[in-house]
Amino acid sequence: MSDAFTEAFGAIYYITLGCAKNEVDTDRMRSLLLSAGYEEAYDVSEADLAIVNTCSFLASATSESIEATLSLAEEVAGGVREVPIVMCGCVPSRYGDELPEELPEVAAFVRTDEEDGIVGVVDGLLGIDRSAPAAVPEVKRTVEGAVAYVKISDGCDRFCSFCAIPFIRGRYHSRPFGEIREEVVDLVSEGVREIVLIGQDTGIWGSDLSQEGSGPHNLAQLLVSLAEEVRGQGVWLRVLYLQPEGMTDELISAIRDTPEVLAYIDIPIQHCCEHVLARMNRSGSEQELEDLFARLRREIPGMVIRTTYLVGFPGETVEEHERMLAFMDRIGFDYVSVFPYSREEPARAARMEDQIPEDEKLDRTQAAMDLAEALGFAATAEHVGETAEVTIDGVEETDDGYELVGHAWFQAPDCDGAVHLDAVEAAVGDIVQVEFTDSFCYELVGHVIG
Ligand code: SF4
Repeated sequence: MSDAFTEAFGAIYYITLGCAKNEVDTDRMRSLLLSAGYEEAYDVSEADLAIVNTCSFLASATSESIEATLSLAEEVAGGVREVPIVMCGCVPSRYGDELPEELPEVAAFVRTDEEDGIVGVVDGLLGIDRSAPAAVPEVKRTVEGAVAYVKISDGCDRFCSFCAIPFIRGRYHSRPFGEIREEVVDLVSEGVREIVLIGQDTGIWGSDLSQEGSGPHNLAQLLVSLAEEVRGQGVWLRVLYLQPEGMTDELISAIRDTPEVLAYIDIPIQHCCEHVLARMNRSGSEQELEDLFARLRREIPGMVIRTTYLVGFPGETVEEHERMLAFMDRIGFDYVSVFPYSREEPARAARMEDQIPEDEKLDRTQAAMDLAEALGFAATAEHVGETAEVTIDGVEETDDGYELVGHAWFQAPDCDGAVHLDAVEAAVGDIVQVEFTDSFCYELVGHVIG
């Protein structure tokens, strides 16, 4: 047990469910608690309190979050010792009033917009007296490894008719440039080699901020400004969660002409058919989307494109489903996430009458997943024979010993597969030159050549 532990007010155990945005929120709470004199517990048996940061994007994610909380409660009650559980994030934001009665195992519920007050909640549960404050340095982020997600906005104003996020996360709000820049510069100075910019709708960053002054006013300018801050340090900038409308001429030019910004784009279109998109409360048509992707591939050589297909939206006909499959195939997306539609109150589509029967939805989902895999495996195999820079993410045990695992610029961390390398002398965060010799599924095999 470290000296810091004995001096700490207590040790906090964290579980994070859901997407990278939740990882960032947990990291923020962890930083606040560390700065307030708490330590992290890596096992619940050593914890004084546990925080479960939940996801409620889909009904299945809500169930998973509740199951994780209940199994933690059982673990605590069944073994080790009593620790209060704090449930944070999207489940309390979505179901706040119902939860205290439904989940008596949980000591406190903290909505996403209340997470900055986590220290007060934990102090209250552990009976900490703040009249003698902890003498510990401020901790801003607690990223380990070569990649850090940086939130540039939160909330969403689009109200897609299938999505509960605007009801959970609230209205769209951009983070000011100064805050983003400071966080990026700090992370890079601590050894981070890839910054992944995230938000519910990154393409409209800045639209709600004052347009006066000399700083960046939109995402394209933000990327260029951040690239200037990190230039010469071998840092990659990646942006996820763009909407098709966000792909302006200025943004396409910024991606093409700024060396630090990766030629990788994540545009979750959900569907290609105009009729389905309109019912989803989304704009665009198959032709407009096709033109956009053709233009991206034409103007940015080697562009990698990831998208999402929401399968079985209410009223989706067999013909519309087949058109979406044909569209995926024709565009040749590198990576596609496939989700079956699920009814998410209070989003409007949950009350639409022409819901697709579950077995039909599952059949369509399987067909879409099969195609997504075929596209992804082929896109991965195309890199065999190439050389590229790979960021080292860690070491994994194999049957024969150990291997290094990393990712290339065309693989978004945690989403798109990895690169497996012989164990050579290298540290997490190193960028090495690799020749790809083989592939399997979404994975590449290679050897370090420099
Ligand atoms: S853009 Fe649509 S799908 Fe994405 S968070 Fe906003 S409402 Fe949900």
